[in-house]
Amino acid sequence: MSRIPLDPATSPAFPKAAKKSLGDQQLRRNVRHATDVIQAKRKRMVEERDDWQDLRESGSQIRQHTLRYLDQYLEEFERNCTKAGGHVHWARDGKEACEIVTRLAREAGAKEVIKIKTMTSEEIHLNNALETAGVMAVETDLAELIIQLGEDQPSHIVVPALHKNRHQVREIFKQKMGLKDLGDTPADLAEAARSYLRHKFLTVPTAVSGANYLIAETGGVCIVESEGNGRMCLTLPKTLITIAGIDKVIPRFQDLEVFLQTLPRSATGERMNPYNSIWTGVHAGDGPKNFHVVIMDNARTEVLADEEGRQTLHCIRCGACQNACPVYRQTGGHAYGSVYAGPIGAILTPQLQELHHAESLPYASTLCGACYEVCPVKINIPEVLIHLRHKVVEKQTKGLGKLNPEAVAMRVMANIFRSEARFRAAQKFGRTAEKPLVNREGWIGWLPGMLGGWTQARDLQAMPEETFREWWEKRDKKEVRNG
Ligand code: SF4
Repeated sequence: MSRIPLDPATSPAFPKAAKKSLGDQQLRRNVRHATDVIQAKRKRMVEERDDWQDLRESGSQIRQHTLRYLDQYLEEFERNCTKAGGHVHWARDGKEACEIVTRLAREAGAKEVIKIKTMTSEEIHLNNALETAGVMAVETDLAELIIQLGEDQPSHIVVPALHKNRHQVREIFKQKMGLKDLGDTPADLAEAARSYLRHKFLTVPTAVSGANYLIAETGGVCIVESEGNGRMCLTLPKTLITIAGIDKVIPRFQDLEVFLQTLPRSATGERMNPYNSIWTGVHAGDGPKNFHVVIMDNARTEVLADEEGRQTLHCIRCGACQNACPVYRQTGGHAYGSVYAGPIGAILTPQLQELHHAESLPYASTLCGACYEVCPVKINIPEVLIHLRHKVVEKQTKGLGKLNPEAVAMRVMANIFRSEARFRAAQKFGRTAEKPLVNREGWIGWLPGMLGGWTQARDLQAMPEETFREWWEKRDKKEVRNG
């Protein structure tokens, strides 16, 4: 049941993929409906809190502080987790992380592992690595199960199957679970998934999880979720392998107070998550007997070293920016070619990957600022997008110096704007030059060369026959004539 994972190194560039998504009316209806519902719920829950802006500020400050002392907090987590009976492993990149998890699963004698939804494992294509080693990963989160059974790709951080509607889910369950008579009410679908998974929970002794937070002060790990499948995976198996990015650490247990309020409200419009699980090491007679945490870098230290891009690591993966983004709401997640879609994907993916694999993503935004407004940890996403665009342009024009076409165009424009006579002459020239391109309705549907980018997805209105200034001057003269 493996699927080809979304990979920026092999996926088509965003404009090409987005064009395909825009042609899929069903997908656009599903995405718009789901994001509308979540956004409305989020708004209600946020408005309930008079101190929402204070909570955002606290979240932002905790993240800033943590990243400043990241090395110390990671070591503190390792010390405390080990003291409690856990084993901490360090992975430089995704490949190393996959090797460690695969080795640990093999050592546990696993042929199958049950999995809680984890974006980190999606990021490194863990399921495929496990399958290559002969270990089948079974997703237990409902949305992830739909994606896995449908051999599809996740399209949202929190709601990975948001692009599917109930009828499509029913078809997947009917086919893959061999159910002839299945209704399409939420209760029918939940019951089908519950029956399918119960057997796995009771018989598979190894689990793989992600982590929402690693608590340095206690060595504990926290996961929040809505379905209880996570709680099953964390408590029933004998071996639990948790994988987390270095950015998941928080200093103190008390810091959870902020995130356990902001995350559920931002993610699904709930006051709190139905299941908040925190576990620390191993305990006789209770929970897994072997507990491993794989802490992975995978380019995060490079992001940390970039002063302007660093705030990307504040992200608590709530997905609110995706729901608010006008671009994501039209295209859905797959067009981003990465497991991290929407505004957070547009800044995280190009930084985690080599930039040339994802250089169209920083442009997948209108820079309207809606993502910044909803972000519970105040990541200034538009600021990072502009920073990355700057990097892309620098890379594309490296070595061209003053001959860089964009710089030449800007110099010419600056020259024109500096003189009224030149500006008027340019307007006249523009009106004449555009004539062959203007259609009968007065629109330009195609521009040549580099300018073609403007008309790829929109028509341009032709320049008016008369500028405002020309009209005004004529009017003045007329008034003088008429006394
Ligand atoms: S960038 Fe902010 S809004 Fe977007 S997923 Fe991360 S925390 Fe949530």
